[in-house]
Amino acid sequence: MFRIGIGYDAHRLEDNLPLIIGGVKIPYPKGLKGHSDADVLVHAICDAILGALALGDIGEHFPDSDEKYRGISSLTLLKKVVELAEKRGYRIENLDSIVVAQKPKLKPYREQMRQNISETVNTPIDKVSVKFTTTEGLGFEGREEGISAQAVVLLSKIPKGGTQ
Ligand code: MG
Repeated sequence: MFRIGIGYDAHRLEDNLPLIIGGVKIPYPKGLKGHSDADVLVHAICDAILGALALGDIGEHFPDSDEKYRGISSLTLLKKVVELAEKRGYRIENLDSIVVAQKPKLKPYREQMRQNISETVNTPIDKVSVKFTTTEGLGFEGREEGISAQAVVLLSKIPKGGTQ
């Protein structure tokens, strides 16, 4: 009936790259380095859903050796992962997540992130949680070398004859 999954991701912060978190482009002089748009939060959510389905990880499904994923919006990858879940008869019941970043302040973008994720995973926004924390200067996030994210999801079996 229910399946849970956990996801974690981290990307390096570098000068003059776009910073995209939760599908929101955040004005900042640094951005995350990656093969796709490096959306660390959405990657953690993808991995949590794949984990709940016991279908491996995001690197297996969307390898960075594959040119077709270069610069791709991670929301597109998340959509594909949600389709995998739905094909197996599961929907995303709720999800919780946390982004670990010393800078920039992400709170002003929370509602747009929740909305983007909610629409992509076909789950009402009141079941999509996005949180932020710093590490008070500790570790790679604290030194502003990178940003990490963690997510947990709960999947539930779609009742026969309905999607809601
Ligand atoms: Mg990643």
